[in-house]
Amino acid sequence: MAPLPKPSAEHYDLVVIGGGSGAMGISRRAASYGKKVVVIEEDGRLGGTCVNVGCVPKKIMWYAADINESLKEAPEYGFGDVNNKPEVPKFNWNYFAEKRDAYVRRLNGIYDRNLEKDGVEYLSGHGKIVGKNQVEVTMRGEDGNFNAGTFVVSGDRICVATGGRPVIPSDDKIPGASLGIDSDGFFALREQPKRVAVVGAGYIAVELAGVFNTLGSETHLLIRHNTFLRTFDSIISETLQDYMGKTGLKVHQKTNITRVEGEKGGPLTIHTDNGEPFEVDCLLWAIGRRPNTDNLGLESVGVETDKGGNIVVDKYQVSSVPSILAIGDVQGKALLTPVAIAAGRRTSNRLYGPEKFKDDFLDYSQIPTVIFSHPTSGTVGLSDVEAKEKYGAENVRVYRSRFTGMFYGMLEHKAPSAFKLVCVGEEEKVVGFHIVGQGSDEMLQGFAVALKMGATKKDFDDTIAIHPTSAEEAVTLTAANLVKD
Ligand SMILES: Cc1cc2nc3c(=O)[nH]c(=O)nc-3n(C[C@H](O)[C@H](O)[C@H](O)COP(=O)(O)OP(=O)(O)OC[C@H]3O[C@@H](n4cnc5c(N)ncnc54)[C@H](O)[C@@H]3O)c2cc1C
Repeated sequence: MAPLPKPSAEHYDLVVIGGGSGAMGISRRAASYGKKVVVIEEDGRLGGTCVNVGCVPKKIMWYAADINESLKEAPEYGFGDVNNKPEVPKFNWNYFAEKRDAYVRRLNGIYDRNLEKDGVEYLSGHGKIVGKNQVEVTMRGEDGNFNAGTFVVSGDRICVATGGRPVIPSDDKIPGASLGIDSDGFFALREQPKRVAVVGAGYIAVELAGVFNTLGSETHLLIRHNTFLRTFDSIISETLQDYMGKTGLKVHQKTNITRVEGEKGGPLTIHTDNGEPFEVDCLLWAIGRRPNTDNLGLESVGVETDKGGNIVVDKYQVSSVPSILAIGDVQGKALLTPVAIAAGRRTSNRLYGPEKFKDDFLDYSQIPTVIFSHPTSGTVGLSDVEAKEKYGAENVRVYRSRFTGMFYGMLEHKAPSAFKLVCVGEEEKVVGFHIVGQGSDEMLQGFAVALKMGATKKDFDDTIAIHPTSAEEAVTLTAANLVKD
């Protein structure tokens, strides 16, 4: 259903600002309990970051890159002339980007219909808090401008689910910085840059650099420190950095851009504080995200934010103003789609659901997550360093295995696999599991269930292996795999 031209009522049980993952979670669940709910989204399409410029189009690009890998490996699996390996067909970025975007548009339509099916109203416009229970909606016209009228709606509760946006340094700080693009701009690219510099050390930087590199762009990854993915367990950062380097990714360690020269869309010269200037066709900043809390009216009602601008909430997602909730990236913790959805659903369970949900809230510990790198990697629970800090080094046992998966056993070129199991106490409760290697992305979910249930190393050992897989390594770790340090 297209968005409504105006609100159908003046008062709602719940007014949600934002139409992304968190908004979908809280609004649809509230409506399922018979509540009157309105969602206000300013972007002109539902789905938020994940659907439009995040998880979904990113994973599709990853799939394309993965196919490129398979095409390279195919001759060694007996396809074509093994001795005279054919060139991998050129990737048609423009064709694929259009197709990817069409898929995303289909998802936008599904989101519209889901809201309609669940009886959630959808207004296309900018939401701004003008009272502890009031939101002003400036409606978006068909031309995309916010010129289609202003309404004020009230709600027993207001949920801020406005997400975040990528950050680019100012030209004052780094002259020419604005010649670069951000992760949103990555999805706007219509042709593959031949040479690209990605700046950042987080998972988004590594994933996008991985896509470029795997698809054949000369790819530079500029990081401030020695390693990327520093917030993850070292088995992930070390294994990936070593391997991605071998596959052609040029990692510039301890490197900061000092100046960018050139013209938008043309070749850019990158000057750094470490090494000679170099030229690229595209510069992509992936140095972090900022919550969308500006121009929201938060100060006018006294909603507390931290120094990064994130809304401060308690474990029930309630802000310093009891009628105002915050869900998802805007509250700055665990910036992931399933987290935003789960927090939203649980909040509605607690507020509007049956008695059994009266204390429902999202536990932010042991959240599993995957990096769509090449190869993929995944993590749940504590790194070994975190576990030692929390429980004392003498109480932590770490099992590690590095191996070559069977798929690569057959090939000249080998991609690594590496597993780490972090255990605590006499009973060896598993508090962390970190994996790199083909299939990690699909493998991790089940192990995350085990950790959530409080599995011990013995539970892992008692589980019969599935053979031949890489996953079986997780249930066959022995004393020989103990890390001694
Ligand atoms: C490149 C990239 C890759 C990612 N990959 C993954 C992944 O693989 N897995 C994963 O779990 N997560 C991933 N994420 C993170 C994930 O996208 C976010 O955690 C998730 O979208 C957060 O949901 P949200 O509802 O908090 O915010 P969003 O999805 O960002 O939704 C917020 C919405 O609010 C709207 N809005 C903002 N201000 C207003 C206003 N004043 N009035 C009305 N509307 C407003 C915005 O237009 C937006 O649509 C990725 C993110 C990026 C950038």
